[in-house]
Amino acid sequence: MNSTTDNSVPTVRTRADLLRQVAAWKRAGETVGFVPTMGALHGGHLSLVEKAREKASRVVVSIFVNPTQFAPGEDFDTYPRTEESDLQKLASVNADLAYLPGVEEMYPDGSLTNVRVESMSDLLDGLFRPHFFYGVATVVARLFLHAQPDVAVFGEKDYQQLQIIRRMVRDLGFPIEIIGAPTARDADGLAQSSRNLYLSAEERRNAGALQAALHRAAKRIGAGTLPSEALGEATALLASAGFGKIDYVSLVDPGTLQDLPDEVLAPGSAARLLGAAWMGKTRLIDNISVTR
Ligand code: AMP
Repeated sequence: MNSTTDNSVPTVRTRADLLRQVAAWKRAGETVGFVPTMGALHGGHLSLVEKAREKASRVVVSIFVNPTQFAPGEDFDTYPRTEESDLQKLASVNADLAYLPGVEEMYPDGSLTNVRVESMSDLLDGLFRPHFFYGVATVVARLFLHAQPDVAVFGEKDYQQLQIIRRMVRDLGFPIEIIGAPTARDADGLAQSSRNLYLSAEERRNAGALQAALHRAAKRIGAGTLPSEALGEATALLASAGFGKIDYVSLVDPGTLQDLPDEVLAPGSAARLLGAAWMGKTRLIDNISVTR
């Protein structure tokens, strides 16, 4: 284990070193919480570390920009990589260890084995990024095997991802408790995201409209407005706020992610409203719970 300066966090870069530390903790009766990230850490990531800290006596954070979840032409090469400041931020929230594997460590000899959570991976974001959730499930399964945590924390910000991971853990019987943590937001409601760094000043000013439109639609559906009408209004609001292509605004079953047609949402039932839209060259996503 590499212990760096005082205001940084210890790091390991290999599966063997990580396992050695995790095994020592477990032998000493400690529990391990795990937060997988792609780095460029912001308040949202740090809130997951704090949540993990409530659930376990040790917290491991991985930073790995996972090539298998990027399609050709997406931003794998330009994705922000800010290792030094990430490690300082992790120290500020008392993370115990950062796992920084290279591609060779995560995919030794390439990868012939992938994890596909069928059907849930093919709708919503999966329609627009067909490879994406296969890459996510595959890397998270591998990270779970490397870190062997008791608990892992994921953000509700990526709601479809959270539900897919829950399903993978259930289907494959990983002995890991999955915790969903609320979305950390800027003052205007915009969900914090590493990709917000791509927004120009003007785009950033307009981007808060995504959360505002979802929030308004969720309130109206909750109060009895037909979902189709509220979703139409949300789409129009996004367009007028400067969003270009709107990939989807959808009301779905919170567990299965299947579309909820107007007639299905019974009083008292819960749903999830999700949206994805482009602000300039940046694709933003957000979601909110709906209770009728
Ligand atoms: P990423 O680095 O974007 O892959 O995200 C790593 C983890 O942080 C995932 O579980 C995300 O859902 C979570 N996350 C990202 N943004 C936020 C946010 N604004 N609030 C809470 N969790 C977040």
